[in-house]
Amino acid sequence: MTSDTTSDTTQTELAAEDDSLTDDLREAVARARVVLWDFDGPICALFAGHSAERVAIELVEWLEGRGLHGLLTEAERQSLDPHVVLRAVDRRHPGSDLVEELEQRLTQEELRATERAMPTPYADPLIRTWTAVGSRLAVATNNSPLVVRQYLASRGLGACFAPHIYGRTRELSRLKPHPHCLNQALNAMGAAPSSALMIGDTPSDHLAAREAGVPFLGYARNEHKEKLLRDAGAEVVVGSLEPVLKLLRGQA
Ligand SMILES: [Mg+2]
Repeated sequence: MTSDTTSDTTQTELAAEDDSLTDDLREAVARARVVLWDFDGPICALFAGHSAERVAIELVEWLEGRGLHGLLTEAERQSLDPHVVLRAVDRRHPGSDLVEELEQRLTQEELRATERAMPTPYADPLIRTWTAVGSRLAVATNNSPLVVRQYLASRGLGACFAPHIYGRTRELSRLKPHPHCLNQALNAMGAAPSSALMIGDTPSDHLAAREAGVPFLGYARNEHKEKLLRDAGAEVVVGSLEPVLKLLRGQA
């Protein structure tokens, strides 16, 4: 939302925008029998104390140390995204020992990061409340399922999701934006896509949800993330999980 004037018209327009967000959100929440959560972002900030950029740099350096510098393009080396590095190597050497070793190194880094992961504000009570009102929850993530289980156990939230944790496997070409982990969750839970809601914080979550036919709720912790989601076509985006929790508790 942008506003360089405080005229009555603008205020009314802003209020109307807020109302329509609440209506869209209310409808999305009311319809959801099954909630599919992306992990890093909506549930916690996994690399809060342990930067994902540094992990990406270390993976690149490890490849360079083995003389495999040429496997990555300059753009991939500069991406500072561990999943970009992993997928790039997988595309050139699918299913190789090299890919498996890189994936294991990333999992180790993610496991280390869980110790300092920051819970997303309102995520814990939202997860408990959604479970209490009878919705079924799953995690659909590009992170390692081991990492998700460890984090959820540390918060006492494992039972809210068990056994529905669908994360990175050796089939790296099926990471989101591929809808594979969403489809796995829907199949295992016997849920129709339209009865579900995906909560995600990146365009690839939105693309995966669209491909799976699952309604999407964007979570954007800052304006930059919101812009990326909106540009990707996400219509319902919240900057905090608090309004979702209030809706479930009947306070909004
Ligand atoms: Mg995420």
